[in-house]
Parts: sequence; C-alpha cells; structure tokens
Amino acid sequence: MQTGKIGVTSENLFPIIKKFLYSDHDIFLREIISNAVDATQKLKTLASKGEYNGDITDLKVQVKLDKEAKTITVSDNGIGMTAEEIEKYINQIAFSGANEFLEKYKNDANAIIGHFGLGFYSSFMVSEKVEIVTKSHKEDAKAVKWSCDGTPEYHIEEIEKEKVGTDIVMHINNDSEEFLDESRTAEILEKYCKFLPVPVLFGKKKEWKDGNQVDTDEDNQVNDTDPTWTKMPADLKEEDYKSFYRRLYPMADEPLFNIHLNVDYPFNLTGILYFPKIKNNFEVQKNKIQLYCNQVFVTDSVEGIVPEFLTLLHGVIDSPDIPLNVSRSYLQSDSNVKKISSHISKKVADRLAEIFKDTRDEFEKKWDDLKIFIEYGMLSDEKFYDRAMKFFLFKNAEDKYFTFEEYEKLIKDSQTDKDKNLIHLYTTHKEEQYTFVEEARSKGYDVLVLDDVLAPHLISRFEQKHSDKQFVRVDSDVVENLIKKEDSTKEELSWEQKQELSPIFQAVCPQNNTHTFIVDFQDMGEQASPMVITRSEFMRRMKDMSAAQGGM
Ligand code: ADP
Ligand code: MG
Repeated sequence: MQTGKIGVTSENLFPIIKKFLYSDHDIFLREIISNAVDATQKLKTLASKGEYNGDITDLKVQVKLDKEAKTITVSDNGIGMTAEEIEKYINQIAFSGANEFLEKYKNDANAIIGHFGLGFYSSFMVSEKVEIVTKSHKEDAKAVKWSCDGTPEYHIEEIEKEKVGTDIVMHINNDSEEFLDESRTAEILEKYCKFLPVPVLFGKKKEWKDGNQVDTDEDNQVNDTDPTWTKMPADLKEEDYKSFYRRLYPMADEPLFNIHLNVDYPFNLTGILYFPKIKNNFEVQKNKIQLYCNQVFVTDSVEGIVPEFLTLLHGVIDSPDIPLNVSRSYLQSDSNVKKISSHISKKVADRLAEIFKDTRDEFEKKWDDLKIFIEYGMLSDEKFYDRAMKFFLFKNAEDKYFTFEEYEKLIKDSQTDKDKNLIHLYTTHKEEQYTFVEEARSKGYDVLVLDDVLAPHLISRFEQKHSDKQFVRVDSDVVENLIKKEDSTKEELSWEQKQELSPIFQAVCPQNNTHTFIVDFQDMGEQASPMVITRSEFMRRMKDMSAAQGGM
C-alpha cells in the first residue's frame, strides 16, 4: 500500500470542483463513461496494429447502480492502467498557472473541466470517495486499486483482478443521492450517451408480464453505436433520415429537407441538419441542434458555433475539432469555430442549390415553408445571400415560382422608372390590394407576392445589392405611371383638385390605416367612375417603417 498527494496545485482543486462545478452535475457520468469508451477504442487501435492479441470482439461499457452500497460503477473492458499510468494520468494533474486560471474561470465550470482534462475528477462532484480498480492490457501487469476520498491524499494498492479493464466505483455523497435512482440515471444516459460508439449497458431489457414491466435476462443497451450521421450518404435512404429525425425529436412534424454534412478538410465535421416544418412562432424552435464530439453529446446550445440563421435548424453536428468544453465566449472568438461556422453555411447553400437543381418540383412545393430560413440567411449572411441567388424563389400572384434571373425576363421592357431601373411590381397582400393587382395584371404586368415578415427587409437588401432594380408595390404612384403609359384615357387630377380632395381622403383613411382606397365619385355628382388613390412607394415605406418601430 502506498499513499501520496495528488498533483502540486490540487489543494485548490477539490474545493473548486465541489463548489463551482455545481451547475451541471450530471456531466460526471458523461466524463466517466467517455473515458471508458476511449479506453475500449484505444484497445481496438492497439489490436489493429498488432500490439494487443487479446479478445476485442466484445468491447463494452457497463453502468451499475447499487442503492444499498450507494455506489455507481462504470466498468469497461478497455486498455486498463498500470500503477505508473495512474500516477501519470490521474495523480499528476499537471497544469501550470492553475491559480490564475481558476480565479479567472471560477464561475465557468465547463471551462475548467475541458481545459485541463478534469474529466475524471468531475466524479468528485457527486462522490465522497472514488475508486479505480484496473488491470492494464500489458503483459504481466499487476491489477491495482486507487482510492481517494476527496482530499488531496490517495491510496494505491495491488489487488486481484482477472480481466483487463477498469471499474470506476463512485461512492455517491448525501447531496447527490438522486443519481442512485434508476430513472434519473437512465435519463442522463439518454441525454449524453445515446450515440456512443461502444455498447453501453444499463440494467436489463424490460418486458410486459401480466400487466407489469419485468426485467428479462438480457442486458439493456442504451445507445445506438452507429447513428445515421456516421454512415455514408450513399448508403442511406430518405426513410433512414426520417427515422433518425424521429429518434431525435419524437414529437416533431416531418422535416422539409435534410442536409448530410461530411467534411474532412480543413477540419473534421459530420452531421445531419434538418429544415423543420415551421409553426407560426418560429422563435420557440431555436437551438435544437445537438452538438457531439466523437459521438459524445456536448450541448444543444449551438449559438456562436453555427451561423445565427442556422440555429433555426434541427439535427446533429459532430466534430472533434470544436473545442467543446470551453466557455461560450471563448468559442465565439475561436478562429477555428468561425471557419467551421462559415463552412457549414456554405455546405447548406450548396446542398440547397443541388436539391433545387435536381428536384425543382419538390423544392417549389416546400418553398413557402422553407423561404423564411433562406430569407433570414440572406439577410444575416452576405455570402449566403450570394449563394442563395441561385435558388431563391419569387412567387407571383398566380402561384408560379421564378428565380431572380427568370423573373427578370418576365418584366416588360416598358417596366422601368425614369432612371431606367427595372421595376419589380409586388403585393404585400393579394386580397387587400386585389384591385391594384388585377389592374396591373390586366395590363400584362406580372405581380410578385412578397408577404412575409422579412419581406420589407429583403426588398431593401435586393435594391442595395442590385442598383438597377426597384421594388414597387402595386398601389404606389409609380405603377400608376407605368400603367398610364399604355392607357392614356385616364386623366390625372390637377394639383388644385388634389388639394381639394385631400381632406376627404384624410377623413376616410385615418393615419395608420391602409394607404389605399377607392372612392366612388357618384356621391360627388361627378362622372360615375371609380378612382384609385395611390401613395408613393417611398412615402409608404417610410410610414410602414415608423409604424413598425411603434411610431405614428
Ligand atoms: P481526458 O479524458 O481528457 O484525458 P480525464 O481526466 O477524463 O482526461 O482522464 C485522464 C486520463 O486517465 C485519461 O486520459 C486516461 O489516460 C486515464 N483514464 C481515465 N479513465 C480511464 C479508463 N476507464 N481506462 C483507462 N484509462 C483511463
Ligand atoms: Mg476524459
């Protein structure tokens, strides 16, 4: 039996672990299990290099609860550790500048854990004592047992252990007894471990017998070791993607599209992103993307990692290259993360362009649901805007879809303003602006429907980006002129007449109401012809803008 002291600076460590790592206690299980998974993967690697000749056909991790003894034990048949390795990897928590660091990050548990490989030590958040019982895969290695009760002192002794591998025995402290509850542990395993690459066993499979759920003899495996995103796209069918979506979000509607990411240069990243069906209030659905690191769940809060507009998507991203355990502000400033973010944006745009090209009918059918994502992306990401020009669709009043380029061909030659800008006529409300839409259409002009919440912003962006194009709502004065060019029978009111009529219109159309209306001149004893009043596009936009800002 040998006794020693852990690390040099670890006097500071245990209080920090206990005190500051309070927020996410349940990650101890993720850390201990992912170490066990790593250990089995390492053994596999050694075997593939011919450096280990033992059996590797049944690599697995087992989680056991013992309520009486108040322990959680995580066992693996992985690589194991020698006494020297325990000394090196567990006892020497070698990091420099620890005090300074701990001071800086004392409120950020994840930063500490990730930065300095405190993975194993996170077990002390929930344990009054932790034991490592391990036997190395190395020939003639002696099995050892290490134990530590949360003071910097540890004990290590030789023991008997038949099989290669490691058991981590956590003696759960009084404050953490919730973790001895089977359903709580099952819940944590489902959250962090459901896609780990090695079978993780917990409890027995259940079956129904006489109306009760009873244990069978069969071990219950909690994870799917080959989740869909790790497979090659060529080996997958539409249904595979859909069933994976259901596995992730059992309650959600079927998604619109999926995008299978598979990047190996300049960084590694795989994943599947889904465009969900948007319900009325899309705010609610943000941040559904799950982030994994080698199939270990890390977080479902991906802001700062994927481009802002893609936080509306669902799915999974897995990358060993994203520094996952560090703080959010660190992530957002990390240049690697920025590169990853812009690359994801590019991949998504490329894939959409491909889907549009290959299956335009399908794409058009889904466009009304899809467009809010695209518009948001175009407004928030310059590069995405340029890429989206290939597949962004305009819908006209007859529900036909056009790309930007296609639509331009539909615009009449005469459809220009005095500065020779091409006029894109649009309506924000087909029913309310019906008369104007019909008027324009009867004259052979096509009218676009731009009716969603982002449309006004998108219109300004279009005009900024394409200085020879103007967007003009069907009820504005420019259209009057366009139409009049061909239909000169209409007379314009003189300035005096307009002045005279103005109070009447003000009365019918108080401030914030619709800007357009039709007056029947019969009442006025004039010719019985309806007359259309318009307001200039510019004035209307100004007014809409200040209305949106709560003015007027
Ligand atoms: P990290 O996993 O980031 O290296 P940890 O604190 O989680 O940091 O683990 C420290 C080290 O302890 C590991 O790198 C590994 O060498 C060793 N270790 C931990 N758990 C096991 C295990 N179950 N089997 C073998 N080695 C382990
Ligand atoms: Mg670890």
